[in-house]
Amino acid sequence: MKNPTALPFFGLVLSAALATAGAAPSNTTDVLVVGSGGAGMGAAIAAREAGADVIMIEKLAMVGGTTLLSSTAFNAGGSQVQMAMEKPYTADDYFKKLEAGANGKELENLRQLADASGPTADWLIDMGADLGRVINGSQHTPKDGSALGVNLVPAMKARVDALKVDTRLRTKAESLITDEKGRVTGVRVSSPQGGYAITAKTVILATGGFASSPEMVAKYTPVWAGCPSTASVGATGDGIVMAEKVGAALSQMDLTGPQSVAYDTGHGAVSLTNVRYNGAILVNKEGKRFFNELGNTAKLGEAITKQTGGTAWLVFDQASVEHAALMSEYKEKGYFTEAPTVAELAKKLGVDGKALEATVADWHGVYDTKTDKAFGRKDSIFSRLDKAPFYGAKISPASQTTYGGVMRDLKCRAVRADGTAIPGLYVAGEVASQYGQGVSIGVVLGRIAGTEAAKEALGK
Ligand code: ADP
Repeated sequence: MKNPTALPFFGLVLSAALATAGAAPSNTTDVLVVGSGGAGMGAAIAAREAGADVIMIEKLAMVGGTTLLSSTAFNAGGSQVQMAMEKPYTADDYFKKLEAGANGKELENLRQLADASGPTADWLIDMGADLGRVINGSQHTPKDGSALGVNLVPAMKARVDALKVDTRLRTKAESLITDEKGRVTGVRVSSPQGGYAITAKTVILATGGFASSPEMVAKYTPVWAGCPSTASVGATGDGIVMAEKVGAALSQMDLTGPQSVAYDTGHGAVSLTNVRYNGAILVNKEGKRFFNELGNTAKLGEAITKQTGGTAWLVFDQASVEHAALMSEYKEKGYFTEAPTVAELAKKLGVDGKALEATVADWHGVYDTKTDKAFGRKDSIFSRLDKAPFYGAKISPASQTTYGGVMRDLKCRAVRADGTAIPGLYVAGEVASQYGQGVSIGVVLGRIAGTEAAKEALGK
């Protein structure tokens, strides 16, 4: 050998050069997570905690998806916070609440969601999310009543980063790669660096719903066709389309949780659910209540579309504004019309003044007796509607949560119409067929899918 030291030296130089340039990232992993909302991050964290290597890709330039936009709550039953309440709220209570709104299908999955929701709330709290205030039994919100998503997503992202998940933004899954036996072995992506393939032992689709795809909304949930979307621009059903191409069955496609109270800011629709949950009543142009404000969102949305002009107004008072930090934020943003009396508010809003005064007087009775004979509302009777100033906001329904999606088994594996699992493919969150509540569907299923996909990838 002419120069025995040359090779090791070259090695050192090469590794130093790679360290400076940043070594090319590997495109092979144990678990590949597609999407970075509550489901994607939940899956990535759970898979890393189970010991797997994880790549998480996101087509947008930021993480969070529709989860980041969530204004109100993470729904669960049986969390430590709930079990410490004077009247504990159990997983069973939550299951019963969910069952009432579901269409009687896939009840085993619904049960699993309810059972896993409390421990998942505890898991999120342990990683630093503020879910310390419980309202209406199942809803965990930040302690000061501020928006959920902007609290939850940074806490989850911090955990993702601490676990060193390889997170790739502006990286869009275009199609699934399968081998000759039909096993999903990776994903073809597009990115600003060009297209490439990522190979994985297991792939989790966590791409969210389809509320921001006008074509899919018209196809599967025509009742909301033409309505705006309050979901992320990324919620275009990509995972549903990709999974269907490899043989996955779709289920419950017409079951939706629209945003019943979307406010048009002039540059996009935003959810005013938080206003609905902080004591407001809803009235029509004739100044009358017409539905339980806290009722099933789809039924409420449909009721609103049937009112004059397909619209309604949230009406509330200063007590509601003081009930949650987010309410003051909305007020500062100029979302609310304000007036010193109910009659003047009615005039500004363009609703019947005499009727609105009568409606508010009726509401005093509902507040005093905590009984809503007309519409059976039981929750969020926080305000008597007698503390000036008075406020109103014009709202209409929008597409938001889509419950229909890829059929799954209890391990969150994507399944075919005959119930057999597609090897290597998992679904989590809104991409899956799952009734529930948007944010908890995401994180609860994400955690299950991440754990199961890691187990399979590691041969456990
Ligand atoms: P979930 O609550 O189910 O997590 P979210 O809407 O919060 O749903 O998150 C879904 C995320 O997936 C969004 O950030 C969205 O941009 C991302 N996404 C959707 N389609 C793709 C795709 N083809 N490739 C990568 N990311 C995607």
